[in-house]
Amino acid sequence: KATVAIVGRPNVGKSTLFNRLVGGRRAIVEGEPNVTRDRIYGEAEWLDRTFNVIDTGGIVPRDSDEIKNKIKYQAELAMEEADVILFVVDSRTGMTGIDQEIAQLLYRTNKEVLLVVNKVEDFSNQQEISWEFYSLGFGDPILISAEHGKNTGELLEKISAELPEYEEDEDKREAINIAVIGKPNVGKSSLINHLVGENRVIVSDMPGTTRDAVDTLIEWKDIKFNFIDTAGLRRKSRVKESIEYYSNLRALKSVDRSDAVLMMIDATKGVSDQDKKIAGYAHDEGKAMVIAINKWDLMKKDSKTMKRYTDEVYYELKFLNYVPITYISALTGERIDEMLSLLEYVVDQSNLRIKTGVLNEVISEAVQLREPPSRKGKRLKLYYGSQVGVKPPTFVFFVNDPNLMHFAYQRYLENVLREAFGYVGNPLNFKLKQRK
Ligand code: GDP
Repeated sequence: KATVAIVGRPNVGKSTLFNRLVGGRRAIVEGEPNVTRDRIYGEAEWLDRTFNVIDTGGIVPRDSDEIKNKIKYQAELAMEEADVILFVVDSRTGMTGIDQEIAQLLYRTNKEVLLVVNKVEDFSNQQEISWEFYSLGFGDPILISAEHGKNTGELLEKISAELPEYEEDEDKREAINIAVIGKPNVGKSSLINHLVGENRVIVSDMPGTTRDAVDTLIEWKDIKFNFIDTAGLRRKSRVKESIEYYSNLRALKSVDRSDAVLMMIDATKGVSDQDKKIAGYAHDEGKAMVIAINKWDLMKKDSKTMKRYTDEVYYELKFLNYVPITYISALTGERIDEMLSLLEYVVDQSNLRIKTGVLNEVISEAVQLREPPSRKGKRLKLYYGSQVGVKPPTFVFFVNDPNLMHFAYQRYLENVLREAFGYVGNPLNFKLKQRK
């Protein structure tokens, strides 16, 4: 997917524009406490195209002395990550010295830069507002009001016109795309190296979309796996925050274009907060998942170690209780085949589709075994359910009143469906619809 980055000095309205472009669609909450803004990445849609938007405002400094320094990184990172850069200035303050400095930085890019003049109130004298910004050297500015949504359609139009087409090649399309996720040093590269050593490599070091990952396409027992590794492209930056920011961003992007996520956890270190965040994103996006506990060769083990470890991981990642866990060593190759089978299995399960008749038999039995919740004398009635989608498996239930559903009962139904049909490694999506 193509990527658009928003740059500009503080207070020109970058976040407002970001929210406007991403609209009601999801935005990622970046929980890093030191970062002033919390939304960093979202998906925007215009006509039939979707693209990613990154708000580099996420790395705006707390300390005003550092503004220049940070803006430099912001611009550099945008130039590397994005296909189209929105350079935002403020019509109320007019052009400032910092705007000119940003322009200087952006001259070095071969990416498309669109100059956006924000906070325009009066669109009747556009010429007059525009003229001072021509000297920035990015041609006709696009005048908008992000806050009031004025002219943002035109902006989207211009963005769309500049977005490159990303065509996946044939081999990659028929492959199972696996996003390899995990903290630095968990063993992602080691795993890929092992896979490359053991299997037929079709293509390796294939640059992925916008160079934010390295793709490795291998063949294993007639199955093609494309491993998306974001670790290979670590780059030096003096700002620790921005390294983390962009490595998280890349991880999220690789999750987006995957069929399944391989979440790697270092056996000697356990589950981290960053792991939780990215796993939470994959869960919300409805991705199939396998958890691989790596460096298992380093653990002192007895017959109960694995069981105990599994309990601990499920405790830390409660919402992922449907995800299978496997214990591997990227170094010795232990259980790597099992891991690949699991990956194939969860992707298979993500496409599982249950016939409505069978589904309703199971549901009505479940309802008989455990009475649905009631409130103020009114009891939830489940009339009828149907699986309406795959990847992730999505269900619609027709009920008398959706408000009567309880979390616990929904969990119960989910477990019933899992017991009956599997859906291993996949989050289930439930929708309730009222029917009188
Ligand atoms: P990445 O940052 O996730 O790509 O991690 P690397 O693949 O670079 O691995 C980091 C370090 O952990 C290297 O020194 C590896 O040799 C080591 N390592 C990776 N996997 C294993 C494993 O399964 N067992 C052991 N003992 N070491 C491992």
